[in-house]
Amino acid sequence: MSNVTVEQLADVVGAPVERLLEQLKEAGIEANDAGTLISDEDKLKLLDFLRTTHGKQEESKSEGKQRITLKRKSVSELKLGGAGRAKTVNVEVRKKRTYVKRSEAGSTEKDELDRLMAEKAARDEGRKQAEEEARRKAEEAAVAQAEAEAKAKAEAEAKAEAEAQAELEKSEAEAKAQAEKQALLEADGAGKTKEGRKKVKKPHEEESDRAKRSKQDRDEDKAETRYGRKELHVATGKSGQRKKKSGKRETSADSTGKHGFEKPVVPIVHDIGVPENIKVSDLAQKMSMKSAELIKIMMKMGVMATINQIIDQDTAILVVEEAGHKAHPVSDDDRERNLLETAQQELGEPVARPPVVTIMGHVDHGKTSLLDYIRASKVASGEAGGITQHIGAYHVETPRGVISFLDTPGHAAFTAMRARGAQSTDIVILVVAADDGVMPQTIEAVQHSKAAGVPIIVAVNKIDKEDADPDRVKTELGNHEVIPEEWGGENIFINVSAKTGEGIDDLLDAISLQAEVMELTAPATGPAKGIVVEASLDKGRGVMTTVLVQEGKLNKGDILLAGQEYGRVRAMFDESGNQISEAGPSIPVLVLGLSNTPSAGDQIQVLPDERTARELAISRQEKDRNARLATQQQAKLDSMFANMGKAEVNVLNILLKADVQGSLEAIRDALTKLAAENEEVDVSIIGSGVGGINETDVTLAAASNAIILGFNVRADASARKAVSERGVDLHYYSVIYDLIDEVKRALTGMLAPEFREQIIGLAEVKDVFKSPKFGLVAGSLVTEGVVKRNQPIRVLRDNVVIYEGELESLRRFKDDVDEVKSGTECGIAVKNYNDVKAGDQIEVFERVQVERTL
Ligand code: GDP
Ligand code: MG
Repeated sequence: MSNVTVEQLADVVGAPVERLLEQLKEAGIEANDAGTLISDEDKLKLLDFLRTTHGKQEESKSEGKQRITLKRKSVSELKLGGAGRAKTVNVEVRKKRTYVKRSEAGSTEKDELDRLMAEKAARDEGRKQAEEEARRKAEEAAVAQAEAEAKAKAEAEAKAEAEAQAELEKSEAEAKAQAEKQALLEADGAGKTKEGRKKVKKPHEEESDRAKRSKQDRDEDKAETRYGRKELHVATGKSGQRKKKSGKRETSADSTGKHGFEKPVVPIVHDIGVPENIKVSDLAQKMSMKSAELIKIMMKMGVMATINQIIDQDTAILVVEEAGHKAHPVSDDDRERNLLETAQQELGEPVARPPVVTIMGHVDHGKTSLLDYIRASKVASGEAGGITQHIGAYHVETPRGVISFLDTPGHAAFTAMRARGAQSTDIVILVVAADDGVMPQTIEAVQHSKAAGVPIIVAVNKIDKEDADPDRVKTELGNHEVIPEEWGGENIFINVSAKTGEGIDDLLDAISLQAEVMELTAPATGPAKGIVVEASLDKGRGVMTTVLVQEGKLNKGDILLAGQEYGRVRAMFDESGNQISEAGPSIPVLVLGLSNTPSAGDQIQVLPDERTARELAISRQEKDRNARLATQQQAKLDSMFANMGKAEVNVLNILLKADVQGSLEAIRDALTKLAAENEEVDVSIIGSGVGGINETDVTLAAASNAIILGFNVRADASARKAVSERGVDLHYYSVIYDLIDEVKRALTGMLAPEFREQIIGLAEVKDVFKSPKFGLVAGSLVTEGVVKRNQPIRVLRDNVVIYEGELESLRRFKDDVDEVKSGTECGIAVKNYNDVKAGDQIEVFERVQVERTL
């Protein structure tokens, strides 16, 4: 590294070249003339040689105490012209100077050599530090640069080293000058040298309460000075700092006799990956520092934070840099992907797994009874009101293998799970009571299953009943494209009785058969993946989460990330309440230990450590919040028209609701015809029905990426909430032609129509009374927007339009008013309409011109 010629070395040690050459020869180092390069190694060798020659080895120990070391920091700038922009690198060189207190007067050769040794040590130290500094600085400078600048970095290092070398030589020269003044210092003794030492003390040390210190303290001080650099992690003047140092001092006690410290205390610079959001305490841990210290650093930066506070990436990076470390941002998406990929790699080979079955059907058709019979237990009898309260999950052993059941309170939960991106079910069992036939929820169940692409097995239940008519069920379901195999369709129909147990074995066989056809497999080992079936909070046991394992194996003690929540699996139970320690694919388990209740349909994933799980949970929470804000801000209603016609959309999914069966069929026919005419874009009606738009409709639309078209029907309050939360496109029409025309425009990528109806206010009718002047007056409460007198209105009953017209009068108390705002009561008389009832809604709308954008 820093080779010098014999001549240079001679100059430094102040000995004649010839003599040095002689000594080198004696030491076994090849050096023929003044120009021979002497390496570090050779220098050491020479020192060793000289030391033994003069028998100094033992004495050096006692000399340690007499030696006083000074350090000085000099900072210079180094300009670098890298591949990118030019940079300035600060090169900090710390020099150490050792003064040897002479025990004898006069300069003997022995002393000369001592000095030589000390200088050598000082030089080595200075050089090491300078190199270290230079390298670190260069690295820091390069940190933000792309790989292309790696070359520049190398250059920087090289230059920094050269600079360091120059500094070193300068320091050597200085050291020599100092040595010449040695004699003068001798006379002054220890006191004087201590004076000298004080001069170079760091400002922070001077600030500290020096007056109080005893002589021993000063010894300690000496140690501080020796390592006297500003510690990165510890605030100045901390007792912790001193403690740490005294410990260090012990270890580096002068046993080798060379110099006071073997290892320079260089601050360890960590390269910290900063996630998008991080807890203060976690960040402190990453930097190997105390949270309190980190908080102090942040306070100095003007950021007030508590130990549990979550700070964002930008803040965290600034804090990390302030603490003297390097920081690089880590995207949570990348991290999540990496983690999931890693987890994926750890999964075993796919093996056959049990099918997961969901039972759906109209209320009271016997879903719970059927499952009960299968489980040979009595869940239905214990249920309040006979309505299943939560989604339960069970697995049963049948002669033909294990089957797992999800007992959902209908298709709504099923689709809600699907809307969260979770396909929970392999097979749907559609329960239809043979005495009741196909009912609205039966049809909805069919639509939801079909939208999810899950095969349906029909259980025609209550076959024991006298008025049971299974053929009617077949015919009715045939109208909804659920066709029995014997009629050439692909759905298995099984007649069963949940009461007598008739046909249940056949049903289980049919499930197993269907599962076999589907060839269901999943890896049975490795970090578990799955979905949340349901979650609740128990006073005693905390968060209880029913989880369906889909891949890998879930073990007690695993760290689980569930949607936006996480935790360690404290305990696991099967459906009968037995403690278990592991669960494989398709097996539902009750898990204790999550931080908070996740949502049904949330995906679960076992992660290697809790901190990662927490960070990802936090980032998901943040993202979810941001997404919701974004959805609320976005005007969603026209997005379909904006997006249609663009290449990526080639199927228009529609959920259609209408006031009466007649209009529903007319619209469906027209839309089907439209689809046939258009080659690029297909129209798919994923669901349809008569009546108002409810939350389930919205969930289905969201899960199927569909738009909702309401013909003379409205969304109820919870559906409207769901629409805005999920950002579903919802359109109302009162003229079939308008509806078809708009869809047509959308399909061909044309612009949205020029005029659109906009609902500006909604009032709920509380009471109806007769007025001599206006006839029937509806005493109403404005629940949304404003009701204006000169606007068209509609009367809604059960979210279906029953009348369209205009207002006769709008009054507040006795006064006629032009408009009434939300939250206010008023009297509304509808022109030419005398059938308003309490509970009806009056909707006020206006026709607005839509701004056309290209
Ligand atoms: P769910 O709402 O679909 O879960 O229906 P339940 O399982 O709660 O059953 C509704 C009612 O139908 C209960 O009173 C059951 O006893 C009755 N039930 C269910 N299955 C059968 C059956 O196969 N035969 C007869 N006779 N009654 C049944
Ligand atoms: Mg039930």
